[in-house]
Order: sequence, then C-alpha cells, then structure tokens
Amino acid sequence: MPIFEYRCAACEHEFEELIRGSEDERALMCPSCGKRGADRKLSVFSAPATVPGPKAQPGGCGRCGDPNGSCGM
Ligand SMILES: [Zn+2]
Repeated sequence: MPIFEYRCAACEHEFEELIRGSEDERALMCPSCGKRGADRKLSVFSAPATVPGPKAQPGGCGRCGDPNGSCGM
C-alpha cells in the first residue's frame, strides 16, 4: 500500500499517511490542527509531469502523417 505525503491547507503542516482508498483520503485529518482536506503532495511513485515521447516516427507517411506508414497515395 502506498504512503502519500500530505500538506494541510489550513496550517501547512506536512505529514505522511498510508492510504487504502480514496475514501480514507477524504477523511484525512491534519494531526496538527485536526482539519480535513489535506492536499496530497506528489510522491516519488508519481510519473513525471512531462515525458518526452516520440511524436513522429521515422518511416511514417509523409502525406497524411499516419505514424503507421504510408497511406498508399
Ligand atoms: Zn493543519
């Protein structure tokens, strides 16, 4: 089970919680001030925001842009 980092929106206290489901997350209480609605911080398990990927592959159709190959025109 993943452990997420949270930051309280009210007092900005940061803490970690072991989360089993989204319902548990909504019921999270800040251990410092007791408020609910902490924001989850990005964890190391999250994928990077921007992943460079191949947009156009060599050998694709130069006319219609089909990456699978020539369109036959
Ligand atoms: Zn708090």
